[in-house]
Amino acid sequence: MMDKVYTRDSAEARSGLLLYLFRRWLNTGLDLLYPPRCAGCGRVDTLWCIRCQQEIDAVAFPEQLMTLPPLRGSAATGVHEGKLQQAVHALKYDNARVLATPLGDRLSRCLEEKQWIVDTIVPVPLHLHRQRIRGYNQALLLGAYVAAKHNLPLEVTAITRQRDTTPQVGLNREQRQANVTGAFAADPSVVTLRSLLLIDDVYTTGATLQACAQAALDAGAAAVYSLTVTAARI
Ligand SMILES: [Zn+2]
Repeated sequence: MMDKVYTRDSAEARSGLLLYLFRRWLNTGLDLLYPPRCAGCGRVDTLWCIRCQQEIDAVAFPEQLMTLPPLRGSAATGVHEGKLQQAVHALKYDNARVLATPLGDRLSRCLEEKQWIVDTIVPVPLHLHRQRIRGYNQALLLGAYVAAKHNLPLEVTAITRQRDTTPQVGLNREQRQANVTGAFAADPSVVTLRSLLLIDDVYTTGATLQACAQAALDAGAAAVYSLTVTAARI
């Protein structure tokens, strides 16, 4: 009996090892054919290099962002330009999830400088069809990092999309606001009396963040703040 169990386990272990070696061989082959490149400067063999990281480390946090009602406070870690823009773009479009760590770290340090009383982290939900295509929500990756750093709960279901909106790119402020009005709903069992921090990658006109904040307040949230990696204007 014992022998049988032992034999089966070792056979499983062997096939697991073979699979692991095959995957490693395949990845090494792919890396040789298509070596990873830094999203900031194109340097080979890394998705984000130390020099590019040093450049974003040197970007000082701007003063308070203009806070649009019903948000209680809004901040961004920098203007949407240069290396920061490249890093956000890579996180969003080039599958460079590894960038959630340095960018999440900026968010985290920026939050430390604020006098905000926040008890819950909420990532801005992505369009459903876009999440299916991309496979991940960059706001969720960033939010998860901040939540872990600050030891706060991450509530992914606090705010959900009720409908897919047309992409905000190319729309003016009024069109953006009309596009997102009523697009979100908040779960009262999660948000009631909580002070939420919305996390997203970019603050363009703030229309999406405003719509999320309104949905949360309508559902009973006590206050809503927003923090993004970049802002189109400060
Ligand atoms: Zn680089």
